[in-house]
Amino acid sequence: MDEKVVFMVDLDGTMWEDTPNEVAKEKTMSAKVFPKAVEWVNERHKEGHYICFFTARWEELREVTEAKLKEMNVKYHKLLMEKPRIRHTEYAGYHHIDNCSIIRANRFEGAWTPLVKKEITVHVFDDV
Ligand SMILES: [Mg+2]
Repeated sequence: MDEKVVFMVDLDGTMWEDTPNEVAKEKTMSAKVFPKAVEWVNERHKEGHYICFFTARWEELREVTEAKLKEMNVKYHKLLMEKPRIRHTEYAGYHHIDNCSIIRANRFEGAWTPLVKKEITVHVFDDV
């Protein structure tokens, strides 16, 4: 990847096994970290990208979340809590709208592999 970007990276179900807010206080520290997650993020950090973890965890879970990240030895710049939660809602996912020049998105499918270029279909604003 030539240009540096801000990676917005989810935590539960992405960096480690899904740990819902309701049980996260007790189960975060024992949640299994996915293979290569730390290595992948740390490589992007080393390349100069900005790493922002963006999680639907409640603000009251910040302390245990930061402890987990510290224990994992993962490098990041920012931790944003309280992403709108879609678990048990009518919402199918997130659609990011921004005026920045580069927007890309990935659904984590269980493996931290290298990023590759692919032609995909996305919903975008119609031309004016
Ligand atoms: Mg998640």
